[in-house]
Amino acid sequence: MERPTKEQAQAAVKLLLEYIGEDTSREGLRDTPTRVVKSYDELFEGYAHDVAKVLNKKFHDISEYNDVVLLKSVSFTSLCEHHMLPFSGTVDIAYIPDGVVVGVSKMARLVDVFSKRLQIQERMTANIACALQKHLNPKGVAVRISATHSCMTTRGTLKEGSVLESSHFTGLYLDNHEKRQEFCNMIRKA
Ligand SMILES: [Zn+2]
Repeated sequence: MERPTKEQAQAAVKLLLEYIGEDTSREGLRDTPTRVVKSYDELFEGYAHDVAKVLNKKFHDISEYNDVVLLKSVSFTSLCEHHMLPFSGTVDIAYIPDGVVVGVSKMARLVDVFSKRLQIQERMTANIACALQKHLNPKGVAVRISATHSCMTTRGTLKEGSVLESSHFTGLYLDNHEKRQEFCNMIRKA
């Protein structure tokens, strides 16, 4: 399928504005189609990024370090693929290295790569865990995402304050109950 042009995307936004009964010639809306498409470029920039490139710089010189590495509370905003409405929250990422680590900023970057796409939270959780497992080959990865979905809080069932929790485990975390418990303890909010 050929990708529509920017102008076609802007025309589509204008059509949506007309659909809700707006006057697209009024001052406040005149540049809205341009602004919406521009903000989409930013919100969905994850499609342009390659995980292999994000995780290509690894550090092997970690000496005897073999315990868990945990990056806590990485904030994100994504858009649900069912309603194209934002959901946002935090991601906790842990892995047990097997002689290799990545820079902490790359772990955070990984969250951007997958959140800046149309998503569902469950898949995003697995995407992050599997990408780390694949490119770093650690002994295990644990990812937990906690988020509020505006498609739940601003429309439909209007369940304000509801939080969706999801987690995904690989390697050691799959069958080592102690390690999993340790992860849960480490990410518990004070
Ligand atoms: Zn939704």
